[in-house]
Amino acid sequence: MINSERKIAEVIVDVPLMQTDKPFSYAIPEHLAGLIEVGMRVHVPFGSAGRLVQGLVVGFLDDFNGELKEIVEVLDLEPVLTEEQLWLADEMRHNVFSYKISCLKAMLPNLLNSSYDKVLVHDDGSEELWSSLSPEAQQSALKAVKAGEQTVRYLAKSKENRKTEKWLTATDKLADFDFGNRSKKRLELRDMFLGLGREPIRKKDLPFSREVIKFFIDNDLLKLEEREVNRLESAFDAVEPDQAKQLNAEQATAFQAIISDRSRPFLLEGITGSGKTEVYLQVIEHFLKQGKTAIMLVPEISLTPQMSNRFIARFGKQVAIMHSGLSDGEKYDEWRKIRSGEARVVVGARSAIFVPLTNIGVIIIDEEHEASYKQDSNPRYHARDIALLRAKRQGAALVMGSATPSLESRARAQRDVYQLLTLTQRANPDALLPKVEVIDMRSQINEASANFSKPLLAKIAEKLERKEQVILMLNRRGYSSFVMCRDCGHVVECPNCDISLTLHMDTKTLNCHYCGHTEAIPQVCPNCQSRKIRYYGSGTQKVQEELEGLMPEVKILRMDVDTTKTKNAHERILADFGEGKADILLGTQMIAKGLDFPNVTLVGVINADTGLNLPDFRASERTFDLLMQVAGRAGRADKLGEVLIQTFNPGHYAIALAQAQDYEGFYAREMAFRQKLAYPPYYFTVQVLVSHKDEQVAVKKSYEIAKILAGHLTDKAKVLGPIPKPIARTHNLYHYQLLIKYRFEDELEEALNEVLDLTQERENRDLRVIIDSEPQNF
Ligand code: ADP
Ligand code: ZN
Ligand code: ZN
Repeated sequence: MINSERKIAEVIVDVPLMQTDKPFSYAIPEHLAGLIEVGMRVHVPFGSAGRLVQGLVVGFLDDFNGELKEIVEVLDLEPVLTEEQLWLADEMRHNVFSYKISCLKAMLPNLLNSSYDKVLVHDDGSEELWSSLSPEAQQSALKAVKAGEQTVRYLAKSKENRKTEKWLTATDKLADFDFGNRSKKRLELRDMFLGLGREPIRKKDLPFSREVIKFFIDNDLLKLEEREVNRLESAFDAVEPDQAKQLNAEQATAFQAIISDRSRPFLLEGITGSGKTEVYLQVIEHFLKQGKTAIMLVPEISLTPQMSNRFIARFGKQVAIMHSGLSDGEKYDEWRKIRSGEARVVVGARSAIFVPLTNIGVIIIDEEHEASYKQDSNPRYHARDIALLRAKRQGAALVMGSATPSLESRARAQRDVYQLLTLTQRANPDALLPKVEVIDMRSQINEASANFSKPLLAKIAEKLERKEQVILMLNRRGYSSFVMCRDCGHVVECPNCDISLTLHMDTKTLNCHYCGHTEAIPQVCPNCQSRKIRYYGSGTQKVQEELEGLMPEVKILRMDVDTTKTKNAHERILADFGEGKADILLGTQMIAKGLDFPNVTLVGVINADTGLNLPDFRASERTFDLLMQVAGRAGRADKLGEVLIQTFNPGHYAIALAQAQDYEGFYAREMAFRQKLAYPPYYFTVQVLVSHKDEQVAVKKSYEIAKILAGHLTDKAKVLGPIPKPIARTHNLYHYQLLIKYRFEDELEEALNEVLDLTQERENRDLRVIIDSEPQNF
């Protein structure tokens, strides 16, 4: 394997603002000959000052004309990127209009993208910091590792990024030590360890006080050792194992198709509770038995402990969990578990699509319609596109599942690009479908309450009377609470962004959700000095306060961005609700997904239509999806569930068809609308976002870009704009957007690259251009 002939490596450097994908060539120094492979990280000098930067080795060259700088240090003993990942970065680049280095960084755990140090672990267990070793010592260690003789762990400098446990073992001295007979506890501890011989025991498992144990350590009777542990391990022990269920006829048909036909991706369309997850579990089991691996993607928001536990219950320690709530250290632990082959099933949110699994049997994307599968920062990839690439390359089955498939996917199934599989019945025949009722708020002017109609209040009271639980959802899309002066109508806005500040009662501040600006709630109007400041809007806090005023006895748990800021807060709230510590769970979209509480018999939607008026062609689809999801929450066990939807817009088809739980009806109606207005799935879209601190420059450059596009595109493509973004200014930058709608355009990529090239020009230093293919948010 070792090829010491290689003298020159090609390295992609990670330099901010270095907007090129061209690798740079570096000489491989003598002491590293044969030890560098593609996919390893290195430190190289860069620029005229020779500053050390991190880079990734992407290839080798046979010869090079001119002076070469040398690689200073190799940071890995084994490649951290696989060949497949390097290939993926090349493939996805055409789609995401981002630099290769940012694609590659998206595939690595954060810990490996930032500065870190590593520890060399010798055979006797002693450790040395890598950076303290001489080049010669590093070289011999690298060779030893290559030959399988020594281990090296990579660790962040900070202790926090490493979790250890203390273990204790008896020393030679223990047997002969004279304890006297003064302490019964000490004698007990001694006898225990004498019984164990040289077997170590975890300190925290010992039923003795710290003082007693300390005495033994201080007197060298017990040896204390710190061992690194996988931080998430303990989560696994608490889960009861679970068995596969006998599939019903529809499930069995889907299962058979997925395991036997590899010609096309599958779209599994099944109502909530129809047993999609059970199908996923059995498909994964099938492939594991064949020695293969599996990726299971779920939206971040539904990656609840309940969800992960279903996979842990079936597959135990073969499961790795990846989501944004993990610390960098925890993510790194899981990544290593995957890289080493120990984990064979990865359950994770969007970025888990990049995990370095080999021999993949199946990739599953649950709730495939979710917007969160598209990353809305660099690199702007859609997990579905990456899944298609990987499934094809690895010969894996690809399954996309949803109760409300995206129109894009459903249309592909219509044209047989995907194979459609449907589940039409609830898997548990005793779980009745909920009764959904729409309340017209226009006829419900309630003096006593701004947010609650009389029927909803009556229904809540009825359920609480019967000791059943209630979930209330506030649709936060397009909605926020703000502060307005009743005399002059002045709304307090962010000084940096053209947007009203959002009221946060817990901190008594007004916050900007775009730039983070915070200020105290004013006592008098900044415009007219009036004292008649009023708080507007139905933030979750306001709704909670109002309901507590109306029903003083009721216990409410609130779940929103404010109450889930801290780690595990989300899980704690759900656990408390599950244990019956509150009558009502009140929250935003967060509560709509993946929850399963048998005692919940009423779901109330406070405001169904706030998202309908957003300037986004997916507004109806999002509203429909949300209402269908939330309706699925009610009555999952044996009790009949009821759903009450409050709206000012009961005639809107998204609301009426959600009430009827009619996905096919919605699909037909919405497709007609999309066709008429030339939106996806009939057309592809690309958004070009132009930002500049000077509004006039932003406008001028937007028109320049429109001209470039016109020069390349056919007259079949449509370019909308430039128009100001719905929120025209954030972070002191003015934003303009263009939207390209097209079907087939040979020169599109070329045109967009030309647009990006604008930012390379000296006079455009302050210009920001973002290209977003198939944007999800407007
Ligand atoms: P979905 O993912 O479509 O919402 P789930 O897989 O969560 O549906 O199934 C809903 C409920 O029905 C779960 O409690 C699950 O354990 C149960 N279930 C699923 N399939 C079967 C089956 N074939 N037999 C019995 N119970 C099942
Ligand atoms: Zn005023
Ligand atoms: Zn702001």
